Amino acid sequence: EEERDQEYLFKVVIIGDSAVGKSNLLSRYARNEFNMHSKATIGVEFQTQSMDIDGKEVKAQIWDTAGQERFRAVTSAYYRGAVGALIVYDISRRSTFESVERWLEELNSVKSPRGWGIQDRLGLWSIEFGGVCNWVLGLSFLGSWVASFKWWALVWGVLIGRAHSDTTVARMLVGNKCDLENIRDVSVEEGKKLAEAEGLFFIETSALDSTNVKKAFEIVIREIYSNVS
Ligand code: GDP
Ligand code: MG
Repeated sequence: EEERDQEYLFKVVIIGDSAVGKSNLLSRYARNEFNMHSKATIGVEFQTQSMDIDGKEVKAQIWDTAGQERFRAVTSAYYRGAVGALIVYDISRRSTFESVERWLEELNSVKSPRGWGIQDRLGLWSIEFGGVCNWVLGLSFLGSWVASFKWWALVWGVLIGRAHSDTTVARMLVGNKCDLENIRDVSVEEGKKLAEAEGLFFIETSALDSTNVKKAFEIVIREIYSNVS
């Protein structure tokens, strides 16, 4: 009984250069709609879509940028908590394919921050400040109290690091607008090769004629489900 009531809600983000068809992929999937003259901002942050996997209702909360990608201003809040991502390019515009690496880097850096985090800095700072208190100011009581903070910072850092590295993001490279075969600028082989090199799923879609749109989202959602169950 209890198992049947369990809720699955996954956050999925759509990223990629401006005008590759992100909003139309989502509207095609969620509402079976396509807009030839879609505005950058649709005013909706996300759409929730349900699907059935092994008799369980799995909901995907799919986030679309409200055009921030134009200004390279997609914030970390957009990525926070995401367990799936569609990285979209336009097969008729090579520059959008060349941007994929940058989008992957951004996605990776938010999920698993490299270098010095705030907790490491606080730890270091507390060691130094502790030293100053001890040796310069002669306040040994205060110094050792402050220095002990580094252990909290360390524990905190490990916990945060663990939480980040435990999160597997199901990633799909999406070559959209495959209906534009006559002006194709990126071959299927190139898309496959990049996906293989980066460990991503790969699919070509058309939000215009619906090719593979449902499939693209469902593969990602199934992969997330198998990652968590
Ligand atoms: P976004 O900026 O990535 O959200 O892109 P939009 O979804 O707003 O689409 C940008 C433009 O590309 C619009 O004019 C769409 O009509 C068009 N478009 C989106 N998907 C397709 C597609 O699969 N095929 C074709 N031919 N045009 C598309
Ligand atoms: Mg859009």
